[in-house]
Amino acid sequence: MSTDGHLPLYLAPSTIRFCPLCGSDLVRVPLPPDQKEEAVCSTCGFVFYLNPKVVAGTIPAEDGRILLVRRNINPSKGKWTFPGGFVDWGETVAGAALRETLEETGLRVDLDGLVGVYSYPDAPVVIVVYRARVAGGALQLNHEIQEFAWLSPGEIPWDDLAFPSTRHALRDFLSR
Ligand SMILES: [Zn+2]
Repeated sequence: MSTDGHLPLYLAPSTIRFCPLCGSDLVRVPLPPDQKEEAVCSTCGFVFYLNPKVVAGTIPAEDGRILLVRRNINPSKGKWTFPGGFVDWGETVAGAALRETLEETGLRVDLDGLVGVYSYPDAPVVIVVYRARVAGGALQLNHEIQEFAWLSPGEIPWDDLAFPSTRHALRDFLSR
């Protein structure tokens, strides 16, 4: 928590203050079944369960190499990862993986099975990663990406990866 009178600027169950539906104050109320305190609207009764966001990604593979992208935005600008991004409201996880891969690389891919699902106690995201095969399109940079590379397993920049989930998913991808 900030001690200089400014409001904390990170999203967490302990920092949300207002009902997203009616704008009234949230109050902490123990709720069944376990009497855990939740943020409840003092006016309309809405319970604001703050859950992790879901990220979908793909590891495109072709001829023994995988496609990595170097990020052009923070967090981890300049670091390497695979294509991916947040799942939109109303979208399937697999659909988001296809869309994000197309948006970031210009490639249309087919999903080829699950690599893994990754989550961490200190990060409010769940990362779902698929194997993928290129089905069409052509590599094209967008503003989120600095560069692409098709890499053999021995060329993966393990010390220059964007996130723990990047390392864990690549490790799992290569172990199969
Ligand atoms: Zn409300």
